[in-house]
Amino acid sequence: MQLVDNLKRLGTETAFEVLARAAELQRQGKDVINLGIGQPDFKTPQHIVEAAIKALRDGHHGYTPAQGILPLREAVAKDLARRHGVEVDPDMIVIMPGGKPTMFFAILMFGAPGMEIMYPDPGFPIYRSMIQYTGAKPVPIVQNEENQFSFTAEQVLSQITAKTSLVILNSPGNPCGGAAPKEEVAKLAAGLSRHPQVAVLSDEIYSQMLYGGRQHESFLRYPDIRDRLIVLDGWSKTYAMTGWRLGFSVWPKTVVEQVVRLAVNCHSCVNAPTQYAGIAALEGPQDEVKKMVAAFDERRRVIVPLLNQLPGFRCQDPGGAFYVFPNISGTGMNARELQTRMLEQAGVATVAGTSFGIHGEGFIRFSYANSVENIREAVKRLAALLRD
Ligand code: PMP
Repeated sequence: MQLVDNLKRLGTETAFEVLARAAELQRQGKDVINLGIGQPDFKTPQHIVEAAIKALRDGHHGYTPAQGILPLREAVAKDLARRHGVEVDPDMIVIMPGGKPTMFFAILMFGAPGMEIMYPDPGFPIYRSMIQYTGAKPVPIVQNEENQFSFTAEQVLSQITAKTSLVILNSPGNPCGGAAPKEEVAKLAAGLSRHPQVAVLSDEIYSQMLYGGRQHESFLRYPDIRDRLIVLDGWSKTYAMTGWRLGFSVWPKTVVEQVVRLAVNCHSCVNAPTQYAGIAALEGPQDEVKKMVAAFDERRRVIVPLLNQLPGFRCQDPGGAFYVFPNISGTGMNARELQTRMLEQAGVATVAGTSFGIHGEGFIRFSYANSVENIREAVKRLAALLRD
C-alpha cells in the first residue's frame, strides 16, 4: 500500500481514548465516574426527537440540497438575529454534519505548505491536527491562567505575518472554559481589519453557555471582518445533540460555493430528518436549554471550590462551556501521569491538559457535564488518592 505522508501528521482527540478506556474498566466491573467526555449528560428535548420522527413519517428520506434545506437555514438566520442582533443571509449559511466538518473544511481551504494558521493552545486538538495535515505551520495562541484562559487581541495581532492565512479562535473555549471579554473581541476585530488577507474561524459552539452574568460577543457583530469571517456553531452542546451530527456555519459569500462543493464531494448533505429536528430545536421553546445551562452553572459552582481544596490543585472559575482546567503542577505529577492514576486508581476519568497542546502541561481538564452527586464523589476519591 502507498498511503500519503500527510496521514502521519494527523492527530486525534484523546478524549475518545479516555472514553474507551473508561468503558473497558466499567466492563470489568469497576465503578468509573466520567468527567472526561465533553458532552451534555441530558437527553435531547422530546419535541426535537418528535420532529425527526415526524419528518421520517412524512417521507423526508431523500437527499436534501448539500447546503441544507432552506427552512433550516432561515431558522438559523433568525436564531443568529435573536442571539447576536445581526443580519445573516441564509445563503451564507451551510448546514454541516456536526461542528467539526466546518473546521475540517476551513483548515483544508486555508492550509498548505508555506502558510501559517494560528490556533488556541491549549485548544480543541483537531485544530492543530488538521493544520499539520495540510502542511501549514501551526502557530499557537497560548491560553494561560493570567488571561483567564482567553486570547488577547495583542497576542493574536503580534503574531500575524505575511504568511498568516487563518486565525482560529474559540470562545467560550474547550478545554479551559475561558470566555473572551467583549473589549478583547472588539480590539481584535479592529486590529484584524488592518489585515485583509487574514481569514478568521470563530468557533462559537459553546456560545450559549456562559456564567457569572457574562454575555457572548460574536465576531459576527463586526462588519469590517465579515467578508472573511467563518463562524462555527451547532446543536451538539446547546440542545444535547452530539450524536445526531448537526452543525452550521456562516461563511463569506465569496467562498460558499467552494464550501458546498466540498460538501458535495464529502457527505452530500446532512440526513434529512435531523435537519427537521434542527428547525424544531431553534423554533421551539428554549426552556430546556436554559435548564441545562443552569444545571451546568450549579455544577461549576460545586466543582471549582472542591478542586481548590485538593492538595496541589489550583482552579480558576471558568467563564463558559462545561469544563474546568485546574493547574495541577503542585501535585508533583505531570498531567498524563495524574490522568492515568485518577482513572486507574480512583475510577475518575479526566483528560490530561497535554491532549490539548504542549501548553496544557501541568493542567487537567474536568468536564462537569455530570451530576452534582457524581462530581462530589469523584473529588472525594481524588482527595483520598492524593493523600496516599
Ligand atoms: N468545537 C469545539 C471547541 C468543541 O469542543 C467541539 C466538541 N467537543 C466541537 C467543535 C465539535 O462539535 P461536534 O460534536 O458538533 O462536531
